[in-house]
Amino acid sequence: LQDFEVQNEPVLGYRAGSRERAELVTELQRTADVTEEVPIVIGDEYIKDGEPRYQVMPHDHGRKLAKYYYASDKMIQKAIQVSSDAQKRWDRTPLEKRLRIWQVAAEMMAGEHRQRLNAATMLGQSKSVVQAEIDSAAELIDFFRFNIFFLKENAKYQPISESPSVTRNSLRFRGLDGFVAAISPFNFTAIGGNLAYTPALMGNAVIWKPSDTALLSNWRIFNIMREAGLPAGVVNFVPADGPTFGRNITSSPQLAGVNFTGSVPTFNWLWNEVGKNLQNYKNYPRLIGECGGKNYHFIHPTADVQSVVTSTIRSAFEYCGQKCSACSRMYLPRSLADPIKQGLLEERAKLKIGNPTDFKIFAGAVIDDKAFARITGYIKNAKNNPKNTILGGGEFDDRKGYFVQPTIIETVDPLDKLMVEEIFGPVLTIYVYEDKDLSKALALVGSSTKFALTGAVFASDKKFLQTALEELKMTAGNFYINDKSTGSVVGQQPFGGGRMSGTNDKAGGPNYVMRWTTPQSIKETF
Ligand code: GLU
Repeated sequence: LQDFEVQNEPVLGYRAGSRERAELVTELQRTADVTEEVPIVIGDEYIKDGEPRYQVMPHDHGRKLAKYYYASDKMIQKAIQVSSDAQKRWDRTPLEKRLRIWQVAAEMMAGEHRQRLNAATMLGQSKSVVQAEIDSAAELIDFFRFNIFFLKENAKYQPISESPSVTRNSLRFRGLDGFVAAISPFNFTAIGGNLAYTPALMGNAVIWKPSDTALLSNWRIFNIMREAGLPAGVVNFVPADGPTFGRNITSSPQLAGVNFTGSVPTFNWLWNEVGKNLQNYKNYPRLIGECGGKNYHFIHPTADVQSVVTSTIRSAFEYCGQKCSACSRMYLPRSLADPIKQGLLEERAKLKIGNPTDFKIFAGAVIDDKAFARITGYIKNAKNNPKNTILGGGEFDDRKGYFVQPTIIETVDPLDKLMVEEIFGPVLTIYVYEDKDLSKALALVGSSTKFALTGAVFASDKKFLQTALEELKMTAGNFYINDKSTGSVVGQQPFGGGRMSGTNDKAGGPNYVMRWTTPQSIKETF
């Protein structure tokens, strides 16, 4: 691994008649046919205990994909003990040996396990084949390979030694002293892999609480890592009730860090609990979080209409708007409003929503009953609010699956809650500004929400683009010019945002790995 070269994993096409399509169809069948039992894993103990719970298929919620259990307080305490012990051994394992496991796992994910991961992601998280492939195949593999690369690159820097024959200075990268809790979301299988295994790569032991609604895909990652050679106890797989898990980890003196992706209220709650417990910790825990957004597409009068339409449809509606980066508010100049609205409505009408295993659909169902209630609540409110007009969509049906049609709403109030609050569903809200009020409209982008995750501006006017870059500097951790606000690629657009969108530690970037190490400076005198 001396000169480890790294490249993004190619995204496969799944054309009719292709080998990957045939393999995926077989795996979808196998995965759908059984309700897999997923245990809690603490060290080398596999526990199936307590009241059974089920992960269902969002597009057909009567069908059970996996059976699982919640860890009790006692089990979480045990996991804390086991991981703190495992960490001491793991951190002493030579770096090359550790990296090799990640490399082997990445090859397994790219090869024989690819379609098992995709099948679990499609059936369990309702992703279309394209969305599964860019997530549970390409991005997951990229996280594993690039993090090896970033670790090696970062380790190349060694401090200056002025007289090397007398003294030598060096930096040693140790894992954190204690355990790391990884709390991952449903919307990207790859994020689960990154949150749990990047701290582990850096020499930490991890207690991983996967999302209930991404359980099977996450469980498959866990198994690949064990098969690739990761010792028991380094990552512990601990599905649990959120508050129970949170209380146990934050009250442990051994807590060394939290790696979180999820909602603002949950991250704030964790941060407060850590604050309350501060006197008890051995170290200041690292708190790393990514918590959503209210991402914008801002359209200038010189924008290219066709590219605005295509990009916005994809950003707002791919995966039903359930990417943290999805566009959910759009600012349109009056001079382009008609052709863009018309284009959006035409494209919207073509989107097919349905069973994610049907290769022709554009998007599947939203993740669960809670999401369905939240999203349709916003739509129902909009129908009753005279300031809002439903331009397209607005229908929903949860009899079989949690289906919400892509919905486009126009509002005359730029501070309407549709323009301010995160909906996390297939709802795009448009506000039309008068061309003469361009600067006022631009100011609204940053002043109207607490988030700053992603954003895009569309314009051909170079001077305006310069202004936008400056004015919108703090409104998006990932900023796009003439492209959609979604689709960041590991190693290409490191991902994360500021304000209430998180700590902006940039997953898929060179600094992320360094958040999980506590370096030691060593001066040796000969
Ligand atoms: N990296 C993804 C994108 O740019 C979003 C990740 C997330 O939803 O947290 O689309």
